[in-house]
Formats: sequence, structure tokens, C-alpha cells
Amino acid sequence: MKIKEIRVHLLQKKLTSSMIISRGGFDVRHHLIVEVVTDEGITGLGEGVGSARIIQQILQGFMIEQALGLDPMSIEAVRSKLIDSQVYMEQKGSVICAASAIEMACWDIKGKALNVPVFQLLGGHYLDKIEAYASDVYWEEDPEKMGENASRIKSLGYGAIKAHLGCKSPREDISRIQALRDAIGPDIDLMIDLNGGYNRLQAFQAAKLWEPFNLYWLEEPVNPNQIDCLADLRSRTSVPIAAGENEFRVHGFKQLFDKNAVDVAMPDIGRVGGIQETRNICALAEAYGILVSPHNYSSGVLLGATIQLMASIPNAHLLEIDTSDNAVYQELLVEPLQIKDGIVRVPEFPGLGVELNEEVLKKYSVH
Ligand SMILES: [Mg+2]
Repeated sequence: MKIKEIRVHLLQKKLTSSMIISRGGFDVRHHLIVEVVTDEGITGLGEGVGSARIIQQILQGFMIEQALGLDPMSIEAVRSKLIDSQVYMEQKGSVICAASAIEMACWDIKGKALNVPVFQLLGGHYLDKIEAYASDVYWEEDPEKMGENASRIKSLGYGAIKAHLGCKSPREDISRIQALRDAIGPDIDLMIDLNGGYNRLQAFQAAKLWEPFNLYWLEEPVNPNQIDCLADLRSRTSVPIAAGENEFRVHGFKQLFDKNAVDVAMPDIGRVGGIQETRNICALAEAYGILVSPHNYSSGVLLGATIQLMASIPNAHLLEIDTSDNAVYQELLVEPLQIKDGIVRVPEFPGLGVELNEEVLKKYSVH
């Protein structure tokens, strides 16, 4: 089998309300999706997560040319060509995101060719149901509004909810954590994501001041490049630390693990180098006793891939689910996701279980 064409789709969705995090607010979301077409008529879907327009340029500028003619069933060979050989000078960043998209599509093709879900190619079921957490409480000026959103999510049955803070100082944001705890009560796990927005002193103050709220994890408290600072913080607080959505490849995660910087690793399949790379990261994390909660905050293609991977690995912990309607998400799935009380049933469709139909393309494509 050979790759004969790769189509690139830039999707855009305008949000009904701004999503505000420590680094600013945004009103629109983009998704970069590839359709990898083979000479045997099988097409696979993949997604590159990051700066969608830059990933698009990298794909169209040179990477598609490198991928044409490769056998999508020989995934290590594809990885070797697209990641290790051709991008020798580019070890991180959007080039790896672009390669991740093509690699992900190869798994989709392989699953469809063999008529099995991707998790079967990865070793089979470890889990047939995955516990999820809801990930869409954004920072608001009015703490009560954050509490109301958290209550809405709690009523959907989720046992864990993540909120974004850090637009104000740790002391000022206490009122928001208080509103969240008041809304969801003591028995729902609460995670706080700072999106790298605090400096060292703010991060240490946050960990100390917020400790009484029994946080399940504190995510990216400082700039993701400040690994020593993260490790230092982790050694001095009882709050578990999560990070990794801005890290690349297994080598990047090895640095995080060697420095004891995280309790929970968060590789993004559409960013780190694809499904095999994420699997390698999970195996490495297992050796360190670290749990993996993959970053999964993009379209339904990434969601499909993330479910397939998590179904097959022993140290996967909590699937990130966007419970808002802000992303091009469930409409890409072959069948709507079955979620009950925050538990996702692993679908059994061949490949990744996602499709890109004409209706979705018409509605969201940017030309
Ligand atoms: Mg995050």
C-alpha cells in the first residue's frame, strides 16, 4: 500500500463566548486535519495540534512531498522518514505536529485495512471503559459564573472537573476556587490549570494558598520550559503537579521524568509525534510510576485517537473531555460518544472511529 495523496483541511469554529485563560482570551478555534489517501482506496484521518496555520504551511511546503509513496502500514518507517530523517534540524515544534497528523492517519488506515479498531493494533483492550474529566471551566471576572458552569458539568455526572485560573494573583483567584468548591462540593475532584501563566513566586504562593481546597492536580503552574522550577515546586507542595501538553517526543518527557517534575504526564498525540510516540512516552512513564492523562483538547479526530490509545495502556488516567460545544468535536465521530456519569465506552469501529463528512467540511472549512 502506498500514500498517493494528502489533503489538508483547516477548520475554524467561532465561539459563542470568549475562552479566557492566564495567557489571554480567544474567540475562535482552529483545527488542522489531514486526510491521507492510499492507492488502495483507504483514507485515514489525522490531526496536528498547535498553530494550525503553521502546521498547514509545513505540510504543504514540504512534508506531504516526503510522505507520498510511503507505506502507511509500516508506521516505524513512516516515523523514521518524517520525524528522524527529514526534520533532523527540527526536534520540537510545529514540524513534529505536522508529522503527528500523518502518523495518526497511518494508524487509521492500518485499522481500516485490517478491519480492527486501533486499540487492537496497540495490544488490545486494557480498558473497555475510560473515566473522563470535564475540561471547560474558563476564567471569569465573576467567580459565581465559574461556579455555575462547574455545577452544570457536575450535573452531567462527571467526577472530576478542571478549571482555568491565573488571570489574577493567587490571592485574588482564591475567591474563584472557593466558588468552584462551593458549587461542586468536597467529593468531586477539582483540577486547576494555570497554562504556564505564573512566575516562580506566584506559583509557590498559589500552591500554598490553594492547598486547603484539596486539588487533584495543579497543571502547568509555570512556563513549561522551566522544568527545574516545576521540580522544585513539586518537591515542596502536597499538590500533585501535571504538565506536558507543550512537550515533544519521548526525549522531552524523559527530561520531565528525570527531574521528578510531574505526577501526571500530559502528552498530546497530535503534538508529540503521533500515536507510537505517545505509546513510547506511556511506557517510559510507567517505569517512573507516573500516570498519563493525554492532553485532548482539539477536534474529534484527536479525541478518537486518544480514546484508542488510552484503551490499550495500563497507566492511562482520566480522559480529557470538552463538554462545551466550542470545538469541531462529536460531529466527527462515526457514532456519538457514549458517555454516562463521566465514563466513556470505547468504540469498536475500525481505525480511529472518526470520519470527515462533506457537511462538516462545508460548515467549518477555511479557504
Ligand atoms: Mg492544560
